[in-house]
Order: sequence, then C-alpha cells, then structure tokens
Amino acid sequence: MLAHRVRLHDALKGAATSPSGKGKPVQLHLSSPIVDVDPASATIHFKDGSSAQGDLVIGADGVHSVTRTKLPGVSGSRKAFSSGKSAFRFLIPRQILLDDPATRQYVESEGLMHICYGRDRRIVMYPTSNNTLMNFVAIHPESETDQTATGDWNNAAPKELLLEVYKTFSEDWTKILSYADNESLKVWKLLDMELLDTWVNDRLVLLGDAAHPFLPHQGQGGGQAVEDGVALGIVLEKGLSNAEVPDRLKLYESIRKERAERIQHYSRIVGKDTISPQEAAKIMLEFTNYNYGHDEFDNAVQRLREWKWAQRPSTYWRMPRAFGPMPGPRQTHDSQARDGRASTFITASIKIKTSRTVLQTLFPPGSASWRFQSPGTVAYCSFSQTTLNKMEWLGGSGYNHLGLYIHGVEYVKQDGEVVRGTYMPILFENLTDPIISGREELGMPKLYSAIDVERDSKSYHIRTSWNGMTWGRFEINDLEETSQVNESTGKISGDTTDEGILVDRYMPSVGRENKGKADAHYTVFDRFSEAEPKPQPQRILRSSNASVVLNPRDWSALPTLHHIIERLASIPVYQVLSAQVVEGVSVPDVSSARRVE
Ligand SMILES: Cc1cc2nc3c(=O)[nH]c(=O)nc-3n(C[C@H](O)[C@H](O)[C@H](O)COP(=O)(O)OP(=O)(O)OC[C@H]3O[C@@H](n4cnc5c(N)ncnc54)[C@H](O)[C@@H]3O)c2cc1C
Repeated sequence: MLAHRVRLHDALKGAATSPSGKGKPVQLHLSSPIVDVDPASATIHFKDGSSAQGDLVIGADGVHSVTRTKLPGVSGSRKAFSSGKSAFRFLIPRQILLDDPATRQYVESEGLMHICYGRDRRIVMYPTSNNTLMNFVAIHPESETDQTATGDWNNAAPKELLLEVYKTFSEDWTKILSYADNESLKVWKLLDMELLDTWVNDRLVLLGDAAHPFLPHQGQGGGQAVEDGVALGIVLEKGLSNAEVPDRLKLYESIRKERAERIQHYSRIVGKDTISPQEAAKIMLEFTNYNYGHDEFDNAVQRLREWKWAQRPSTYWRMPRAFGPMPGPRQTHDSQARDGRASTFITASIKIKTSRTVLQTLFPPGSASWRFQSPGTVAYCSFSQTTLNKMEWLGGSGYNHLGLYIHGVEYVKQDGEVVRGTYMPILFENLTDPIISGREELGMPKLYSAIDVERDSKSYHIRTSWNGMTWGRFEINDLEETSQVNESTGKISGDTTDEGILVDRYMPSVGRENKGKADAHYTVFDRFSEAEPKPQPQRILRSSNASVVLNPRDWSALPTLHHIIERLASIPVYQVLSAQVVEGVSVPDVSSARRVE
C-alpha cells in the first residue's frame, strides 16, 4: 500500500495519456494556470486570456483551488487555513540506514511504518519504492519553521533546522535524521479547511484536496483524491448525454462526501498532540479498517446501480432483490410496461352447478367476511384452463394455467361495503416464472402442476398431473363453433354479476416462533373492467358435453397437493351447465389486482 508519490503520479499519468488504453488519450497542457471558471457552460479561462469548453469541469486544483471559489456560498475567503503544524519531508535510501548499526533495527523489516512521538511533534517513517527508499514526514509546531514553510510545494529547508526541531529525540532518531539529504528536504505548513456544503455547481465538480484538503496524519489525501476520481469515472459512464451530467455530479458528491470528510476528521484526531502513542495506535487501527476496508470501484458501481433503480418511477421489486427489479409479466428488465396485445389465449371452461355449502368450505379459514351473494343451497363454479402464448415477457413463449373459480361470492369490507366477485381458491400453473411473480406481486394462490392439453376440432381434453401422477381429467366433447363472440369474455364462463376475481393473499412470517403468523394477509380483488389490455375473443366453441374427474390419490403420490385435490374432488357435480372454448388475442397483465382494503 506504500508507494512513492512520483511513481504513483507517473503511473496515473501514463494510464491517462497512453494510446493503448480505452478511449481517447488525455492531452496534458502544462503551465496553463486557470483564473476563472463558468460552471453553467463548463468553460475554463486561462491566465493567457484563452479559454476552453467541455461537458464539465473537474476542479482537481488542490488545496489552493481556484475552482472552489465557484461553488455556491463559497467566496474567495473560503481558503485553507494553517493547522498550526508544519512538516518536513525527505527521503533516505534504505541501504544507508541498513549499513549503520545504530539505525539498522528500524529498517530491517520490510513494509513497516514507524512513528516516533514527542509531545508536540512526531516523525513518521515508512518504506517506498519496493523498500529501497525510506520516506519521512516530520510534523512539528509551525512556529519553529515559520520563516521557511509556506503552504506550497518545494520549499527547501536546511538540514540544521530539521535537527534543531528534533534535538530532544533519542540518539537513534537524530542519527536517522542526520542522513536526510539537503536535496530532497522540504518543509511546508499543513493546511486544513472547513467542510464545504457542496462540491458541485452545475457542470463544475471538485475532487481531491480542492474539495477536502487533508492533514497528512493518516496518509490518506492522495488515496481519497484517487477514490474521488474512480467514483467520478464510474458515474460519468460512457454514452452519457451532456444533459445528464449535472445530476451525475450530484450523485458523485453523494457517494464521496461522507467518506472523504470522515477520513478528514479522523486525520485531525490522529494528529492531535493530546493523543498518547497508545491511543493513537488504537484508533489508527480502527480508522485503518475504515480507510482500507473499502473499494471505491465496487462501492460506486453499486451506488450508481441503486441510483438508476431509484430513478424508475414505479417499479416492481421482488426476491431476489440484490440483482435489482425483476423483469416479469408487468415490466421489462428496465421497468418499462409490457405489451400484451399480441399475446394469444385459449380458455376452456366447464361450469358446474354444485353445493353452496361445500364451496363455502373453500373460503379462507377463520374469516367471516366471505359469503355467497345468494343464500340458496346450490352455487356455481368453473374449472377453467387457459393456454397463453406469444407472451412478450416469456420471450414469445407461453404456459398453461388451470384454476377453480367460485361464482357469486361477496367479500364484506370492514366498513360494510361489499365487493362482488368470483373467488379463486387455487390456480395451478405449469411454469415457475408466472407462479412466483403471481404469488408475490399479485397475491394469487398459485401452485405448480403439469397441465397437458389434447385438442382436435371437436374436443378439448386436459390432463393435470404432478411428477407423472395424474390427478385430474377435464374433458369437453362435441364442441360447436358459435357466432356470438361475447365482448366480455374476459370473464370466466358466463358469470354475469361478478365484477372481478377475489383471492386471499397470505405470506407467512419467517421463524419457528412465528409459525402460523403472516407477514401479509389480506384480500385481493382484480376488477374485470380495469383489465389492460382488454382480451379480444375471436372464436368461441360451446358444448354441453363435458366432464370433470378428479383423483386425489394419496399422500405418497401427491405429497404436496393431495389435500387440495381431495377437497376439489369433494365438490359434487350436480350438473354441467356449460362448457366452452374461447380463442383470442390480447392478454391482461393483471396489474389491476389490488388490496380490497
Ligand atoms: C506533508 C504532506 C504529506 C502527505 N502525505 C500523504 C501520504 O502519505 N499519502 C497520501 O495519500 N496523501 C498524502 N498527503 C496528501 C496528498 O498530498 C494530497 O491529498 C493530494 O496530493 C491531493 O491531490 P490533488 O490532486 O487533489 O491535489 P494536488 O496534488 O495538490 O494537485 C493539484 C494540481 O492542480 C494544479 N493547480 C492548482 N491550481 C491551479 C490553477 N489555478 N490552474 C491550473 N492548475 C492548477 C497544481 O499545480 C497541481 O498539479 C500529504 C500531504 C502533505 C501536505
């Protein structure tokens, strides 16, 4: 993690300017001081009177930033101020210290950082350049080198001054300092600054010390500037339009500001004179975990992803959430609405007259809100099977479903209002995707079953099975085409008063102690009149010759369905009232389903 600043700088410069990387190589214009910036037009004005315009201006102009003065609320007076400390910096070849028996012990181990503390001063020493050079930062009260230090780079300092400032340090350390060479020895004031409210103004964005100047006590300023650059590179992704830039800059700020400022704050704490070496070591470890336990590439990529998800105004989320909104029947991968107008359906239904009291046992248990519209002893239900095809959300393919629809049901709301509908206690489907999306997004009581259809011009036979175990046969024979194509055939088999489909949504809670408890439990209603797109029946065939044969088998044959098929089989068929096959186009996406209350 320790690198020579010059090497790092060279590597970054090489990456930016090399023709071998991605994109256009950067062209550097050195010695071109900027004197003004127009954030709205992203124009920079140079000292020589020339100017340049781009999509945005990145103010990476360090602690004495000119671009910073262009932020809202920042006047020229928002300048970095002295922290009260100055620092010497210099390099010593490691070999020199290895050769001296007095200093050898400090540099024998590779990759090791030493900090030698005085009351109000300290020396930080660590290796760089593959352990060939030792780098020093010697922090001390500013007053002791005031004449020499400024906040600028390249302030040469005499070695005598260095030795004077650290004369109270042990012999070993003064010996080490004595090897400082006058060539590389520099001193400057350590500057700090109040936090900025924002780093962004329209098309101007700040990064690095311009946005958050760092005290060097944790050696994090360069790292944070690079992290800023990584985040900015990610939010300004390829293909972005010019108009999108300002919002992306705000996103960049929201990704970076809290972290950079927290590390700034930690650096101030670590630099305090009042802190003991033990305390410093302890919090240093704590801060180190924060500083290094982070990868800005991964972080910014994820934040950008989450930001894009949040941009979508109404999006269905369901498990697994980590990968983003799920494409499904009601939205594309990028949350656009689906088009079901070209999808096709064939619905075969058999309507029977049966016992109301038996059907009533299929109402959701423990609820007094469900009842039949008519108190008679007979009631009506349909077994209805649909084959869907050309479904956009399934890449053009389709699936089959089959359900029990109990007609003439009422759900009484808490306020007494009554919702009239067809109650659907169970819907079988032969594909996982609609089962999951329908259960989670619509609250539909869907389960898996194989549903095979055998059809010819006069008959329509359905076989339902689980793992090869047949549990149902639904047969319609002697079908005749009728010329009446009923506009409302989105409804199930001739039910005239029902206004939609009613279902009981139940999502169990997790946890042994929560057995029998629900995270969500309510009634859902899908109103026929709100179906979009509306089904367009094109052909209807009818018959009165139909049969339903259900075989619940036993628990070993139908280990997950036996209890359901057994109940379905208990519904007596007093009379087959009608059977029909409706073919058409345009399949509703069921997005009109909603909680009843
Ligand atoms: C004593 C000391 C020790 C440090 N030690 C470490 C360390 O060990 N590890 C670490 O990560 N960080 C360290 N830092 C912090 C680190 O040096 C800075 O945080 C880092 O250099 C900030 O990078 P930057 O690109 O934002 O700014 P700078 O590196 O300051 O770069 C700003 C650039 O903008 C140019 N510029 C300025 N004004 C204009 C203008 N008007 N027109 C055109 N160009 C302009 C400058 O010439 C310069 O090239 C230390 C800092 C100090 C003071």
